[in-house]
Amino acid sequence: RDRAREILSAVEGRTDTRLGVEAMGLLDAYGIPTPDGDIVDSPADALDVAERIDGDVVMKIVSPDILHKSDIGGVKVGVADEDVEDAYEDLVSRARNYQPDAMIIGVQVQEMVDLDRGVETIVGMNRDPQFGPLLLFGLGGIFVETLEDTTFRVAPVSEHEAESMTREIDAAPLLRGARGRDPTDVEGVVETIQRLSQLVTDFPAILELDINPLVATPDGVEAVDVRLTVD
Ligand code: ADP
Ligand code: MG
Repeated sequence: RDRAREILSAVEGRTDTRLGVEAMGLLDAYGIPTPDGDIVDSPADALDVAERIDGDVVMKIVSPDILHKSDIGGVKVGVADEDVEDAYEDLVSRARNYQPDAMIIGVQVQEMVDLDRGVETIVGMNRDPQFGPLLLFGLGGIFVETLEDTTFRVAPVSEHEAESMTREIDAAPLLRGARGRDPTDVEGVVETIQRLSQLVTDFPAILELDINPLVATPDGVEAVDVRLTVD
């Protein structure tokens, strides 16, 4: 809680209110798992991070001006160490092409999560003028808007309510292992919903927070992308 408070007071009143970097730290402070990795501002530093992570990495442009990174080719999945430096330059030039005056913070280098065995979900919150903090859970990833397979509760939620959210969506059978797939860590998803619920209850200054995707695999859950808006 203290760490979360520190992070939030550092970003309070900032106008570039899309704070991916700080958001990862907030989740971490509340025990929501995030993939290993870091945000760097040079190709050489990107390589350093990639070398310390086992296997290929994911690289993403970090800019408050770019909300949907994959829309502009700002996410590269499965980058081998020898391609990391080129990938860095490429991500930055794609961002510049998209918006020449975009403020570019750098590139996030992240451990790969096994999507083949996982399900992309979304866990989010926004404050409704009438109901207060509304938690959302649903099928996630880059198609979330088109599929609209989501369910809502007012925070704070009990374990029972969080659990029922994971049962309500159309894609619920996917989480529990459909068609011979291994069941994913639904308990981890339930816990994540509750932890997010606690976080937004503790900090009214968080206006909006979306984990998309929270990847659920048989081994656990990982918040690979977070978007945060603060007061
Ligand atoms: P954005 O939503 O801004 O386009 P994301 O970080 O959510 O950017 O990445 C887009 C997609 O790339 C994700 O929905 C997921 O399918 C894939 N992806 C992102 N990070 C990882 C990761 N660490 N491991 C595996 N796949 C990833
Ligand atoms: Mg995303």
